[in-house]
Amino acid sequence: MPHLFFTEEHEILRRHIRKFVESELLPHADEWEEAGGFPDEVFRRMGELGLLGLRYPEEYGGQGGDFFASIVLAEELSRCGSGGLPTAVAVHTEMATPPILQFGTEDQKQRFLVPAIKGEKIFALAMTEPNAGSDLASIETRGVRDGDDWLLSGSKIYITNGVRADVVVTAVRTAEDKWGGITLFLVEKGTPGFSVAKKLDKVGLWSSDTAELVFEDCRVPAANVLGQVNQGFFHLMWELQGERLIGAAGAVAAGDRALELALRYVNERSQFGRPIGKFQAIRHRLADMATELEAARQLVYTTAWRHQQGQSVIKEVSMCKLFACQVAFRIADEALQMHGGAGYMMEYLVQRVWRDTRVMRIAAGTDEIMREIISKQLGL
Ligand SMILES: Cc1cc2nc3c(=O)[nH]c(=O)nc-3n(C[C@H](O)[C@H](O)[C@H](O)COP(=O)(O)OP(=O)(O)OC[C@H]3O[C@@H](n4cnc5c(N)ncnc54)[C@H](O)[C@@H]3O)c2cc1C
Repeated sequence: MPHLFFTEEHEILRRHIRKFVESELLPHADEWEEAGGFPDEVFRRMGELGLLGLRYPEEYGGQGGDFFASIVLAEELSRCGSGGLPTAVAVHTEMATPPILQFGTEDQKQRFLVPAIKGEKIFALAMTEPNAGSDLASIETRGVRDGDDWLLSGSKIYITNGVRADVVVTAVRTAEDKWGGITLFLVEKGTPGFSVAKKLDKVGLWSSDTAELVFEDCRVPAANVLGQVNQGFFHLMWELQGERLIGAAGAVAAGDRALELALRYVNERSQFGRPIGKFQAIRHRLADMATELEAARQLVYTTAWRHQQGQSVIKEVSMCKLFACQVAFRIADEALQMHGGAGYMMEYLVQRVWRDTRVMRIAAGTDEIMREIISKQLGL
């Protein structure tokens, strides 16, 4: 059936990714959750399959696709049995590397973007610090020019892919001006003065690593400044639009998985002589869940289409992030409730979906910050 936003090519891509996910990722989901991470080899395999550069130009090894190709990837990766792996991949493809294409020099595209698309180098994006989360412009990690280099000092926290990253796109204060004093740097693993302080334990997303990073007089060549000096905050504001849209698409997909689990369970489980899905209280709640999910999906698709046309949709992107992430967690919570005691047992997948969707309301901008952006756009 023709679709407003997806072409036949998107559907071919969807089948290609689904096959990969079902045969090469899903069988390892439990093992990777318990291990607290999946092998780097998965990135290389995805690079080989052309999945890390879906919307990057062919001249850098990408597939030359559009934003909906990235949405297909986010939707299909949600079938891999955990939320951690899709998060790690999305940070690499949709958060850390888009600024390199958008703001990087040709030399940086060759040195960083090409191996990122091949899956040979893994990327992270480090904005958050112990004293600067929602208030990103108050970051304290400092960069001081020293000849042809910059010396970076400070720390970053909650950085996805931080433990294993080969390259960390790092936001650094390089001038006093709050918003106009931040610069992005491409910091490479092994650079003296750069280290992983620790891997952090989390409530969910166990298969993705999250790190605290430290910079102690870390010497980075000026050739690794990404974009314009002191324009990093604005570069990140550009980047966050795509990041939040893909995050919202991933949230809708995670909601789909939770709804599927709930539907299956309410048909299997009987109480009072009938499947629990036959009770009106449960049937109606499932109808509401499906409706909320569909509303979130349509909002995300329409906003993604407008974003792709180059329209300014900051308000709508923030609405997508706020609404889709809330809906996803609400559905996961209801799905767990419908499982009764079984929902609280680790052997049922619904607990993982519940733990993994909770973070969506926090990472990449909290619910409250999305409301701040929306209300500002309303002139408040
Ligand atoms: C699993 C995980 C992965 C992450 N990955 C990354 C990553 O890869 N890179 C990265 O840079 N960051 C990452 N983050 C960090 C994430 O983006 C931040 O946690 C988030 O932006 C919130 O910042 P904070 O934790 O400092 O909370 P705070 O900013 O301290 O907020 C605490 C509470 O106060 C509320 N609040 C703050 N300001 C306001 C306001 N003006 N009005 C109303 N309420 C307000 C917040 O909404 C929140 O509820 C990750 C976080 C997690 C949990």
